[in-house]
Amino acid sequence: MTAAFDVVQVASLGPAFDARLAQRCRVLQTWHEPRGLAAFGTALPGIRLAVTSVRHGFTGGMFDALPDLKAVCSWGVGHDTLDLHEAARRGIGVSVTPDVLDDCVADLAWALLLSAARRTAAGDRYVKTGQWRALGQFPVTTRVSGKRLGILGLGRIGEAIARRATGFDMQVRYHNRSPRPDSPYGYAHSLVELADWADFLAVACVGGAATRHLVDAAVIRALGPRGILVNIARGSVVDQTAVLAALRSGELGGAGLDVLEREPTDAAEFADLDQVSLMPHVGSATHETRAAMADLVFDNVDSFLRTGALLTPVAAREMQA
Ligand code: NAP
Repeated sequence: MTAAFDVVQVASLGPAFDARLAQRCRVLQTWHEPRGLAAFGTALPGIRLAVTSVRHGFTGGMFDALPDLKAVCSWGVGHDTLDLHEAARRGIGVSVTPDVLDDCVADLAWALLLSAARRTAAGDRYVKTGQWRALGQFPVTTRVSGKRLGILGLGRIGEAIARRATGFDMQVRYHNRSPRPDSPYGYAHSLVELADWADFLAVACVGGAATRHLVDAAVIRALGPRGILVNIARGSVVDQTAVLAALRSGELGGAGLDVLEREPTDAAEFADLDQVSLMPHVGSATHETRAAMADLVFDNVDSFLRTGALLTPVAAREMQA
């Protein structure tokens, strides 16, 4: 039965994409099955390409079920849920959807930075719940313009965050594993050094085991009581317990977080902290960007089926990391 399919789609990317893909190729859709790929037998020969999403991922037994697999096309740019090492070992190419989401994720980083500093989310609650009338003036907040912005992970999104800082007359420095010769921004050799210098620390590096808890108690201490942490990368990069403790003790000034260590969550532990602005992991979630991401997945699939090449493959260095 499965020899009739070229492509397996393990995650729905929305009705429009799903219908478009079904018109383009012979696609086996498995997301309706609670047991996923396992529901279709021990192995599915003939299928050359799999479509997934960063949320659904592609790991372990999924490779074993698809002996003829040559490519995985994923929706999203993070690859912490994709087993790149196993894909590389089997000679399977992996594509993600870079570039098209940079602006919206960077915009959200700035929304969180501004909200944490100027407390716009808390101010909104203050007005809507009648506290303005009852309690009078809202507390004084923290200036943004002219301050220092540190970026952990000056990649595509990190650069888009940095570019926006120009309009706020801010100085920018960054920390990556190695300095970028093409960058106009200053390089900090360690993350603690960067946090010590910065008023705001924006986290925009990759997630996964290699970056787990890079932002730890020492980094938070270096950022300090007037410092504000922004995370649009992955919850795993930040030691959330240490952040909470520092916010409560006043060792950290504030935080704007699009991503948390456990998702989804009601994050009750943050509920009474007005110096924290949270969003439910929606960095790329605008109509325009989501459409562009779906188009890029489709174009990768189309290119692979026509030519055997992916348009936006994960770099060889990342595949081996
Ligand atoms: P990218 O262009 O690959 O940039 C990643 C940056 O992280 C690079 O500059 C890299 O520099 C740095 N990096 C990697 N490992 C590091 C380490 N151990 N220490 C310090 N820096 C390190 O990726 P991108 O497209 O900007 O995306 C970044 C991340 O944003 C994604 O991986 C994803 O997790 C997250 N994201 C979140 C959302 C959201 O909805 N909130 C949406 C899209 C993406 P070096 O290689 O020189 O170290």
